[in-house]
Amino acid sequence: MATGVDQSKAWFERAKAVVPGGVNSPVRAFNSVGGTPRFMVRGEGPYLWDADDNRYVDLVSSWGPMILGHAHPAVVSAARDAAVHGLSFGTPTRGEVELAEEIIGRVEPVEQVRLVNSGTEATMSAIRLARGFTGRAKIIKFAGCYHGHVDALLAEAGSGVATLGLPTSPGVTGAQAADTIVLPYNDLDAVRKSFVDNPDSIAAVITEAAAGNMGAVAPIEGFNAGLKELAHEHGALLIMDEVMTGFRVSKAGWFGLEGVAGDLYTFGKVMSGGLPAAAFGGRADVMAKLAPGGPVYQAGTLSGNPVAVAAGLATLRAADDAVYAALDANAKRLGDLFDRSLTEAGVAHNVQYAGNLVSVFFGDGPVTDYPGAQASETWRFPAFFHALLDNGVYGPPSAYEAWFVNAAMGDAEFEIIESALRVAARAAAEAVKA
Ligand SMILES: *Cc1c(COP(=O)(O)O)cnc(C)c1O
Repeated sequence: MATGVDQSKAWFERAKAVVPGGVNSPVRAFNSVGGTPRFMVRGEGPYLWDADDNRYVDLVSSWGPMILGHAHPAVVSAARDAAVHGLSFGTPTRGEVELAEEIIGRVEPVEQVRLVNSGTEATMSAIRLARGFTGRAKIIKFAGCYHGHVDALLAEAGSGVATLGLPTSPGVTGAQAADTIVLPYNDLDAVRKSFVDNPDSIAAVITEAAAGNMGAVAPIEGFNAGLKELAHEHGALLIMDEVMTGFRVSKAGWFGLEGVAGDLYTFGKVMSGGLPAAAFGGRADVMAKLAPGGPVYQAGTLSGNPVAVAAGLATLRAADDAVYAALDANAKRLGDLFDRSLTEAGVAHNVQYAGNLVSVFFGDGPVTDYPGAQASETWRFPAFFHALLDNGVYGPPSAYEAWFVNAAMGDAEFEIIESALRVAARAAAEAVKA
């Protein structure tokens, strides 16, 4: 139970003097929910502890990566062993080959993979490769989907861009955004029309395999399959962004649930076990265009970093069928608790899933696209969020983010969540629109 936040408050003041907004990624600043961001000092299993020694059940899981819970012994020991042997060589290593094999072994359409350092780098490189491969410039993306802070992909983006209510970002030039076509999510007719209106000029369609950055909004039946068909009919590639869903929603990510093959894939989050690494991969004939074998340049001083690779490999090797069953069961259990507490408090809401990603939208639903997410009663969210936080549950500090369970959660944690939700649901009911 939160007893005080003096330490976090003091550190946030110090941070604001030396770091813009006091944070290294905007949503962490609590701008849309108010209050003091918690400075975490320790994580173990399903819990986090902040600088004032408050303990929280963690429903963010570092925005996805920590599927096994925090400081999992196998992952920590793999990272420690790797670190002892040297932190970085700038040469090929055995571990990166094993990690590539693990990824390819899980996601059938991925024949080759290259490691990078963040999901942003993965999507940036994937669109460059798609443009280089097709000799075309334009990219279709969907409103409310987030693909990292790549200049060309920031338009109507989800995640922090949605949280802060930005249409795009200053600093992205007209030229950088000119080849980006933004369409409504789950709208195949719009995609069909766009291909007709832009003959022989669209290099790729990029989509979150299931949208998780405007809240969890699964693709409607046939949407991803339709994207694939339209892209191929018009000589374009389909890029499946599985940075969030990859290795979380199933062993093979969203592909494992749906079976619609993209030409290129991007991964991050889970695949590096909480250290900075990510990847893009896909069809061998497309990947062959990358330097050094091909002309499309892409590189990285720390790419394939041995410590990050070891943590990723250990995470994926530990993530067996039992872990995926636990993630699914815990997501359902969380969603059921949202549902029950909000129903009891008389708050109209929708609990939505994309695999084991969970969201709760206030108001009438269901939400199938970005305007729908924006039309939800997001003004109820700050009160809901803070009541949970005050009662020992750390949720995402934004109405537009999914909730991430981990496999370390058990009955004790769900009891804490259940009693915190009783308070939070009442707080959501009593919230007034500003
Ligand atoms: C998190 C995320 C990214 C960006 O990854 P970073 O490592 O934060 O750069 C890209 N795409 C999706 C779908 C994501 O969820």
